[in-house]
Amino acid sequence: MSTPDILVIGGGIAGLSAAAALSSHAKVTVLEAEEQIGFHSSGRSATMVHYALGDRLVRALTLASRPFFDDPPKGFTDVPLGHRVPVLVHARDDEREALDALDAEISLFARLERLDSAGVHALCPLLKEDAQHGIADLGAMRLDPNALLQGNLRQLRTSGGELRSGARVASIARDGGLWTATSEKGERFSAPILVNAAGSWADQLAILAGVRPLGLEPKRRTIITFDAPAGTDLEHLPFTKTIGDELYFGAESGRLFASPMDEVPSEPCDAQPEEYEVALAAFRMEERTTVEVRQIHSKWAGLRTFTPDKHPAVGFAPDAEGFFWLAGQGGFGLQTSPAIAAIVESLIAGTEWPLADVAREELGPDRFVRQPA
Ligand SMILES: Cc1cc2nc3c(=O)[nH]c(=O)nc-3n(C[C@H](O)[C@H](O)[C@H](O)COP(=O)(O)OP(=O)(O)OC[C@H]3O[C@@H](n4cnc5c(N)ncnc54)[C@H](O)[C@@H]3O)c2cc1C
Repeated sequence: MSTPDILVIGGGIAGLSAAAALSSHAKVTVLEAEEQIGFHSSGRSATMVHYALGDRLVRALTLASRPFFDDPPKGFTDVPLGHRVPVLVHARDDEREALDALDAEISLFARLERLDSAGVHALCPLLKEDAQHGIADLGAMRLDPNALLQGNLRQLRTSGGELRSGARVASIARDGGLWTATSEKGERFSAPILVNAAGSWADQLAILAGVRPLGLEPKRRTIITFDAPAGTDLEHLPFTKTIGDELYFGAESGRLFASPMDEVPSEPCDAQPEEYEVALAAFRMEERTTVEVRQIHSKWAGLRTFTPDKHPAVGFAPDAEGFFWLAGQGGFGLQTSPAIAAIVESLIAGTEWPLADVAREELGPDRFVRQPA
């Protein structure tokens, strides 16, 4: 029987970043079902840090996370956590109003350039002529998810914490002020605090523990990669997104990647790309750009898991002592992970609240689960 102070269930970015932050205050053990960390959503993302998704709260969490990515704590990683990639959001004439609205919202968080048709095509020559208007965030960033995951793991271990991989939690019981999680292999782990960072499985994990679920919705998203036209300047190609949620694309390991920005409801699972969304990605790429998708080089899918109000749930469950929710990071879990980890640290270890413009009530799971009467 292992008896840390805090048990974190889930070795994705949510669980590992929270565990790393908590490990300087307490003995932390992370239990991960798979043999490798980041196997599910955290290893399948588009890895961007940008402001063209979510709302004020998500943007505030992203903004607060950025200094960590630019200048990680000493000893966190030997390699950069990412590199600069501009973000271009483009619109046709009939979509201009939506672009204006996004411009106004994002301008509060990033320095944007407003582009006319010539500016849009200078930044992304692959777009068709109907991309008439654009906004560009030239300071955006693409993360190295492996460096981010490994850095958090290293920080956890340096502080005396541990990761148990291949430890799928099969049952959870509460007794004598302790949560005891038992893995499928029969190993037992007990701690007074259990952090539920099980990603798409977080509601299922809560049910295992006898805690009321939040109504999380995992949604599948698909990415394909394919050859760029000869002569494409991949090094300077922006992450390019339609103003509506139709298509994004960018450079990926000497090729192009694209997503039709699908949001297909799914059970928690090892998500696989479906033929329809793969074809849709290629179709939309050809519809909005001059690129011909001749052959798909690779494809994958991952789950983005949302709470009912699309804000993350971070905080102690109102209906179960010591049960901490860390779920619902949707499509922004990497880019908000440092800020959310600092919030977890504040709520569990009692450090100062890290974000002046985010209130703890905005994140609390009691938005969805009321205290028992
Ligand atoms: C296609 C795509 C594009 C994306 N693009 C971006 C982007 O550009 N920027 C961004 O910030 N975010 C992006 N995201 C979102 C981001 O990937 C997620 O928000 C984030 O990875 C969620 O992290 P997590 O740790 O909650 O989940 P996960 O990485 O899924 O981790 C949860 C872990 O819990 C484990 N687990 C579950 N049940 C158990 C159990 N019973 N016992 C033990 N372990 C268990 C699982 O094995 C899993 O490893 C994207 C996602 C997708 C799919």
